[in-house]
This record gives sequence, C-alpha cells and structure tokens, in this order.
Amino acid sequence: MYQGPYSFGPVQWSDFISVHDTLSETANNGFITKLKFINNRDVSFDGTIKYSIADRNSKELYTQAKQVKLEPQKGYKFEVAFNNYVPVNENIFKVGYQITENNSAASVRSERLYLADKQLKIEVAGEPKPVVENKIKDLFTSIPFQNQQQHGYLGSRMTRNLEERLLKIDEPRTLDGYLQQPGHHPWAGEHIGKYLETACNVWKYTGDKRLKTQMDRMMYELVNSQLQDGYLGTYIPAEYWTSWDVWSHKYNLYGLLAYYKSTGYKPALDACKRMGDLLCTTFGNKQGQRDLILAGTHLGMAATSVLDPMVELYKYTGEKKYLDFCYYILDAWEQHNGPKIISALLATGKVTKVGNGKAYEMLSNFVGLTNLYRVTGNEKLLKPMLIAWKDIVTNRLYISGTTSSHEYFQEDAILPAGSNDNMGEGCVTTTWIQFNQQLLAITGDLKFLEQIEKSVYNHLLGAENPETGCVSYYTPLMDQKPYTCYITCCQSSVPRGIAMVPYFTFGNIKNVPTVMMYEPASYKEELTTLDKKIVNLSLQVESGFPENGNVTITVTTSQNAIFPIALRVPAWCRSFTASVEGKLYPGTVNSCLIVDRLWKSGDKIKVRFEIPVQILDGGKSYPGQIAFQRGPQVLAFDNTLNTEFLKKYPFELGPEFRVDDLQSERDTKSLPEQWIGNQVYAAKVTCLNNKVAKQSMILVPFADAGQTGGAIKVWLPQYITR
Ligand SMILES: [Zn+2]
Repeated sequence: MYQGPYSFGPVQWSDFISVHDTLSETANNGFITKLKFINNRDVSFDGTIKYSIADRNSKELYTQAKQVKLEPQKGYKFEVAFNNYVPVNENIFKVGYQITENNSAASVRSERLYLADKQLKIEVAGEPKPVVENKIKDLFTSIPFQNQQQHGYLGSRMTRNLEERLLKIDEPRTLDGYLQQPGHHPWAGEHIGKYLETACNVWKYTGDKRLKTQMDRMMYELVNSQLQDGYLGTYIPAEYWTSWDVWSHKYNLYGLLAYYKSTGYKPALDACKRMGDLLCTTFGNKQGQRDLILAGTHLGMAATSVLDPMVELYKYTGEKKYLDFCYYILDAWEQHNGPKIISALLATGKVTKVGNGKAYEMLSNFVGLTNLYRVTGNEKLLKPMLIAWKDIVTNRLYISGTTSSHEYFQEDAILPAGSNDNMGEGCVTTTWIQFNQQLLAITGDLKFLEQIEKSVYNHLLGAENPETGCVSYYTPLMDQKPYTCYITCCQSSVPRGIAMVPYFTFGNIKNVPTVMMYEPASYKEELTTLDKKIVNLSLQVESGFPENGNVTITVTTSQNAIFPIALRVPAWCRSFTASVEGKLYPGTVNSCLIVDRLWKSGDKIKVRFEIPVQILDGGKSYPGQIAFQRGPQVLAFDNTLNTEFLKKYPFELGPEFRVDDLQSERDTKSLPEQWIGNQVYAAKVTCLNNKVAKQSMILVPFADAGQTGGAIKVWLPQYITR
C-alpha cells in the first residue's frame, strides 16, 4: 500500500552526464575511489563533489571536496581520483559522494559498501547437487543458465535489469538492519535475500564480474552478521519473531542457499543450517516452543511461507528435522487460528476462502507446498494446488498475467485496473510465475508455460522501467505507471522474476530438447540418444520475434545422430510450420511439434507462424471495452505517443470509430529517442461520422508503455470497434 513520489523529476544535468565510480585496492590495504564523468551532450558542467567515508554505523571517518568541470562537448571525459584511504581498525566502509551543480544546486548522491579485506577471495567450487532427490521426477528441466544467451527483446530487458537495477542497488540500505539492528523498515530484512538469489541467477547467466564482486561482499556481510544462536534478522531481542522476522529469515535462506547452489561456498550453507536449526527449536508444538502462526501477519501465512526454502534446506542437507518442520507447518495451517490452506481449498475450490485472501503470502505458501510434493511424492499435497491454480486462472487473472487488487484475491471476475485499484502487486506477479514454474517442472504441461509467458511479457516486464531500472509496486493497466527507485518489497521481487526468465526459454520436456520461446538466442546442451550416443547440441536461433514469426534455427551437433527436437506451438499463433531440408512439418496449436530425424551439423529448421491480433473482452470490470493482444503481448495506448490522435479524437468525445488494421511499424519514428524497445504498432482508425478522416493510433507493448511517464490505456473505449 506504499506509493511513493513519482520518479520522473525535472530534466537536470544528470540526464546528460553519466558518472561511473570504481573503488580499487591499493598496496597498503587501502583503497582509492575514482569517478569518471562522460558528457553525453554538448552541455557544459561545473560542479562540486563531496566525497565521504563512514564506518558501518555511519560515523564519518573522512571527507574531501573536489571540483569538476566539463567542456560543452559530446563525448568529453573527465576523471577525478580521491586520496588513498588506509583503514585503521575497520574493514567495512560506506563510501559515498554527492555531486552538486554549482549553478542549479541539482545534485546526485550515491553510497556503497566497500570491504577492505584482502582475505575475501571467494573461489567458485562448483554447483553442488541436492543430497535428497525428488520423489517426483521432473518432466521439465531447464538447461543451465550458463548455456544460453538471449539476443532479443527478453535479452535486452535482462541486460537492463543487471545494469540499471542490480548494479545500482542501494547496498547500505539493503544491509543496514543487519549491521545494526533494527532495520529502517519492519520488512527491510527481506531485500538482501531476494537480491542474493536474483544476483546468483543473473551472474550464472551473464558471468558478470562486477556483479560477482558485489554479491560476494553482500553475502559476506550477511553471513558475518549472523548471531551465535543462528539468528539472522533485523529486530532487537525484545521483538524477535514478531512482525516480519521469520519472513526475513525465509528470504535469507533463499538468498544464501542460492549462493551455495551457485558457487559451492560452504559457509553460506552453514549459515542456512544455523537458521534452520534455530527455527526448528523455536517453533513447534512441544512445551516451550512458539506457535509459528502467531509469528507473522495474514493468519500466519507470512511466517509459514518459510516452507519453500526449508524444503530446499532439507534437499541440500538431507537432515530430516527440516522435513519434519515442513510437516509441522502443514499442521499449523490447519490449527484453529491457522489459514486452512489445504482444507479450505479442498472444501471450497476458491483461494478467496483461504486465510484472509492475501495474495503474495498465500502464493508463497503454494510454491512451498508444491515443492514439498516434488520431494515427498505425497499426492495429497498436489491436488489442492491444482485446484488453486485453476481457480486463479479462471476467475482472478488479469490479461497481463497477474492477480490481486489491493494485494488480495478478489471475487470472481472482478479485475479493476485503474491507478487507485492497486492491482497486480509486483511480488504477486513474481510468485505467480514461481508457482507455475513448480507445476511446469512436475508436469511438463504447456498450460503452465503459457501462464508464465503471459506474465513475463506483460506484467513482469511492465513493472520495471527499462530506461531507469525503477519499479512500480502496483502496475495499473490504465493511467500512469508509478515507478519508484527506492526499496520496496516489489523493487526486490520484480528483478527476481526477470532473473528467472532463462528457466523458460529452452529446456527438456519429457527428455526432449524443446524450443519454448522464439526470441533470437543461442542454447547448448548435452544429450544421450536412444542408441546411447552422447551428443553436444547447440542451437542458434535467428528470429524476428516478437514482431514476426520468421525463425531460423541452426543446429550444430558433435556427431551425426538421430534424436527428436521439439518446437512449442503456442496457443496464440496460427499456421505454424517447420521445415528441414524441404520436408514440411505442420504444427498444432497448444502442443509440441516433434521433428525426429538424423541431425547433422549445419541443418536448419525454418519455422514460420502468424501472430494474429486478438481482441479481448473487458468482462465485468470493463464491460463493452476491448484490448488488443498480439502473440503473448497485450498492447497499450500511451498518451505521449498519440498526441496528434488525441488532439483530433480525445477519447472523451466518443464518436464512432473503427479500427481497420494493425500494422507493425519497423520504422520507430513514433518513439522518442531514449525509448527502450522497438516494437510499435499503428492502427488505422476510421471515424464513422466522418469517413474521410483516418488517423493512425499508436500502440506499443504494455511492458514498454509508460516508460516516459505517459498515461496509458489497455482497455479502450467501446466505440473503437473492428
Ligand atoms: Zn511487493
């Protein structure tokens, strides 16, 4: 419920001048800070830098001021170095600088943590395997993130997520509650864990050294903040296990387990075990133990969602006490004061009847329960999850692949989408994707992938501004997207969702390598054929998707071999065909087209499909109104791209319109210079009262719309008809 100031301030010098900082070690265990300015326009700049070093408790240790002067010349560079600072007793520093323009007083501030510890060399020992294998064998597995690269739309958004969001994270505020309890906000403790999991996925995918250095020091600080008894929270002793304390431990388990799984760094796992042990002794039904339901909000659903990382802790340690704790959670749900997650779903079939209906916390529990099913094979656990999934998809899902309004599941088909409706919390979108990911892994069923695709291409990417990396907590389909750059739960969840995208692009469905999304990309994997040949397979995908369905996949194999390659035929496409060496394979929508043949290096699969525009109905909340969907993407009308159209036909006037066609304009002249994304669609609109007047209405993907601060509309008035 927290909506901050709008992030687009007035244009100032920092829009034209970029600043890069580097902190590097010097020989005497000190460090030196350099700031590099680049003039991106031909403006002059005259400013003052105030540089400061503080200890972990923000006590100032050193300050220095320097002047900066840039010539009015595009590409002009200027570098400033600050004195070598040699630590005395401390080894953790908050290094900050504020740059102020002398004329306008417009300033930019940055602060980061620096560890002056030469011992911090975290070697990567590999990716450890789980100790306990799942009883339910996965029918879908993704390939390692290292083995793929995305070169298209999704790839560019993942790059923005790294450059604009993760590398610019506010490190001190993400960790301050651990360096010195209490944190600055009751749930500020959750961000470091979410960050670490996100960073691990992005690092595996990119191998980015800057990110590895950053995540190493953040992880190191977190692990070293753990108390002797295993407590790793942001509360003072009198307030342990209240409010969002278990919740923060949940995210620390996620983050440190992710770090361990990505690097094999044992101290991260040990910290998780100490947290797990503390939770197991603190909570339970035995004398002297606390009730987990009372340790958090939303009828205990916040605290009990520690279930998922506890399942993972059991998998990576094999220690039965963690599995027992998972079953204790299931019992706690059904206590007199519990949310009745399983029994209410079985009895009513509706998520609105579970607990207090809070979407993020409930979905987090669903993710854990589904994971517990994978490990134990207990069929009783899966049934309620399939009921919940069906209920959400049928009754509570927005066309952009999110759910919830004011953070709660709403009554059937009530899907308000205005800026006051607080729809589609970012955390809900990401957790909905995770829930579908679990179900996809178990079943290999494309219907779960379809939901993931819808969420990723619309609400997930729509919640992170590709220009600034800022995130909108709620992202309405109508009106401005309220992007903010300060830390909120969603500001850590949305990047986490984006970092998961490589799970869903290519993988093995029932042991068959399957192309699931058609963006330009490259994939590598090793497979064993039926006749026991081991083949190194790589696929190079060249594609015009998401603008068009012209795709060429070049197959490279280490030896000629017979094996199948599957191509997903999405439900939204038409006339899907694949051809290899002149042989045509027709596809059936909503299924996999399998091409089983003798493959040799250099074979090309030519894939063609149409992406028709679908007209969606506004339903109960927008009766008679329509929205356009093209492939997986919902389109939006952005006011800033339609000034001419609005001058002629302000929507309020309501003449009769007809939309004649919708064309992809490769020429992106309708988009402003700084716009990220190059899809733009023009619809020819006829005013029926004046047939001569035709006007071009510009639509862009909802995920791109609103990035320059314009009001948007996904639901368009009923007088626009086809
Ligand atoms: Zn949130």
